[in-house]
Amino acid sequence: MRFVCVDTFEQWRDESRQLLTSGVAPEEVHWTVQRRQPSLFGDDDSVRNDDMGAKVGNTDARLADVKVTVPSDFLNLAKQVACHRDKGRWELLYRALWRISGKQRNLLKIASDDDVCQLMRMQKAVSRDVHKMKAFVRFRKVMNQDGDENFIAWHRPDHRIVQIAAPFFARRFKGMNWSILTPDESVTWDQHQLRYGDGVPVSEAPDGDELEELWRTYYASIFNPARVKVAMMKSEMPVRHWPTLPETQLIPELLEQAAGRVDRMIAKSEGFSQTATHYLPENIDLATLRESVKHCAACDLHDCATQAVFGVGPADAETVLVGEQPGDAEDIAGEPFVGPAGKLLDEVLAAARIDRDSLYITNVVKHFKFTEQETARGKRRLHQKPDSREIYACRPWLEAELTSVKPDAIVCLGATAAQALIGRDFRITKQRGAIVKTEWSDRTVATWHPAAILRMPNEQRRKEMTAQLIEDLSLAVVTR
Ligand code: URA
Repeated sequence: MRFVCVDTFEQWRDESRQLLTSGVAPEEVHWTVQRRQPSLFGDDDSVRNDDMGAKVGNTDARLADVKVTVPSDFLNLAKQVACHRDKGRWELLYRALWRISGKQRNLLKIASDDDVCQLMRMQKAVSRDVHKMKAFVRFRKVMNQDGDENFIAWHRPDHRIVQIAAPFFARRFKGMNWSILTPDESVTWDQHQLRYGDGVPVSEAPDGDELEELWRTYYASIFNPARVKVAMMKSEMPVRHWPTLPETQLIPELLEQAAGRVDRMIAKSEGFSQTATHYLPENIDLATLRESVKHCAACDLHDCATQAVFGVGPADAETVLVGEQPGDAEDIAGEPFVGPAGKLLDEVLAAARIDRDSLYITNVVKHFKFTEQETARGKRRLHQKPDSREIYACRPWLEAELTSVKPDAIVCLGATAAQALIGRDFRITKQRGAIVKTEWSDRTVATWHPAAILRMPNEQRRKEMTAQLIEDLSLAVVTR
């Protein structure tokens, strides 16, 4: 009899390879579990790849590096089953591997086989547990000694699924430093790398009553009314998880809310917490807003820009035009649309017989974003698109402007404005010119950004786009 101690999929894989190449039958092996030594977060050995070390393709995959090859389906299944808490999993996996690498290559297709049934049942339990972890983990904010924000979550999964669930959290919350603690294992993400460590007892889980409000806000913002199925939600939310879900109290309220929330929820669910909200004045009138925006440091763009460029136009304008962000000329002048895109805007407004002075014109993002390029004549500032974090951070200013102006119509110039006000899925190429209802105006229209027209190399296409911009502006702009 061989005695083999393993604790992880990789250890099982390596041991199995050796046993298999030495021709050791399943009955001759006694599998026991040996837990890894504690290595909480500091140990580089604990860094693992997302794919857990085995490259699995569509065809056969090598069990490790040489000789033994098994179907990739089996390796994928084995990775999941390895997370199951059942003590018999290593033995079961080795028996299945032995059979598959012997005469029963298609073993997994025999649904009535006892081993296959057991493997499938375990895989299902693990994948359900992963799903629950994704749904129920809630982070609590804690500050480290350097004053950096860290987010910590405590979760108690049924199985040892941290390593297969962690890559999801790294993708979803990639801009945050976070740790998820479970009784068996922990994982931490420093915005670059996942590190795995030992479990943490319940008594060491962060106690953050004062952060309750944060959870509520977080949940409210990722809540998707379109997806709610109450009966399913009840069956999916085990009572055991309820104490860590303060937001359950919010569900009836959230169910009643408009679908317009969905877009903002996603941004928050991605971990964007910093917004301009606390730079907003108490009085949401344009003059006060324009003064307050000068001090906004909600994102890093204020560091390099000359100034914040706020909207201009009558406080009771019937139509608001929303662009993306100030360009080089606007950054210097402190007014939107005064550079090349602004010149084209003047031309199309004139063609549509719209008085520019009757419009309130603003941008989604208030600071210029650029990179510097060395040229023979000195440095040149090249415009860069704002990213979703900057758009999210700046959004309160735009919302305050729209709340104050209360326009009858809004024209979104380009995809950034359209996606901010109409929805993330909006595509100018497909949906431009359609009048849609948003929470800001019943007549919201998105059309080409003048800068997109200026960039268009094909002259014929440029002409078409210009004609469409004029048409859309004529359609959208209303007179009271
Ligand atoms: N592009 C924009 O989106 N806004 C401006 O103000 C200038 C160029």
